[in-house]
Amino acid sequence: METVNGISDLPGIAKPAVDPREPSSEFLARYFRDYEEELGLSVRRPVKVRSVSREDANPAGLLGIATSDGDWTAGAVINATGTWTRPFWPTYPGQSTFRGRQLHVADYVSAEEFKGQHVIVVGGGISAVGLLDEISRVTTTSWFTRREPVWRDEEFDARAGHDAVALVEERVRRGLPPQSVVSVTGLIWTPAFKAAAARGALDRQPMFTSIEPGGVRLADGGFQPAGAIVWATGFRAELEHLAPLHLRGHGGGIVMEGTQVASEPRVHLVGYGPSSSTIGANRAGRAAVAAILKLPGISPAATPVSWG
Ligand SMILES: Cc1cc2nc3c(=O)[nH]c(=O)nc-3n(C[C@H](O)[C@H](O)[C@H](O)COP(=O)(O)OP(=O)(O)OC[C@H]3O[C@@H](n4cnc5c(N)ncnc54)[C@H](O)[C@@H]3O)c2cc1C
Repeated sequence: METVNGISDLPGIAKPAVDPREPSSEFLARYFRDYEEELGLSVRRPVKVRSVSREDANPAGLLGIATSDGDWTAGAVINATGTWTRPFWPTYPGQSTFRGRQLHVADYVSAEEFKGQHVIVVGGGISAVGLLDEISRVTTTSWFTRREPVWRDEEFDARAGHDAVALVEERVRRGLPPQSVVSVTGLIWTPAFKAAAARGALDRQPMFTSIEPGGVRLADGGFQPAGAIVWATGFRAELEHLAPLHLRGHGGGIVMEGTQVASEPRVHLVGYGPSSSTIGANRAGRAAVAAILKLPGISPAATPVSWG
């Protein structure tokens, strides 16, 4: 937890005190589980939504939702499917010839797995830097990025957060796909990252030109042998199940008005674009509910969730 950027409180129940040495994956799972229990939220799981479509034959103007656990209809949908299930892998010449292990950061478990191998980390975001920090403690690493990473010395405060959100908001209002998180936040020098840099673990090299069975061919023609390549190259929004609604415009993204899809008032995207962070998702959730309650035919839940 000491290396995370900051986890926002869920609405109504503040985060409990946390041991800075606890892995964030364990802390977050516990906090969310306790939240669900405390509020008595009824979450159906596991259920995969396969598609959301317009029920043209349906006079009430409902949306049809096909899932792994039967079909549903709804007057509105708040889509909060994140990005975690859509890791993005770029392609490089010779990639399939690599004899070592290639994995995306989404499949990374622990640095211990790489002991004794030289590990290449690709990507200019916080995931790459976090991995380099961890893996360089147990073995040798190289870091490759397309552009020179942009570091910021000052703290990522509320003002910086506001500016970053405004940049993303502007893109999605114009119907462009959101860009990587790091392109609007930059990389923040935490004490852990400063220590990694002092160990030489954050010496960035320009992208390699191709992948060969035993390593990568460098931009200057040299060769870097490697046993593993970790792609920390980001994620895309998981929106495949919304394809029948044809929400994407000419810019390749979805034109948004706040959390609402501009062309479909019954669909709100929470965690997409400007709301894709724990703080953004909180605010966006509230805004989406308020907007949906104004739709004709929608009434507040019979048993509203409340907290003291
Ligand atoms: C390495 C890393 C570090 C980060 N650090 C921070 C940090 O310090 N602070 C911070 O605020 N944020 C941080 N973030 C970002 C934060 O994790 C995300 O912003 C947050 O998880 C987004 O929450 P979400 O609920 O929108 O999406 P997710 O957490 O991705 O949840 C989406 C859920 O929808 C489910 N789903 C997807 N498709 C379907 C479907 N078809 N049917 C049913 N369910 C589906 C998924 O299984 C998942 O459970 C970090 C992210 C990464 C990758």
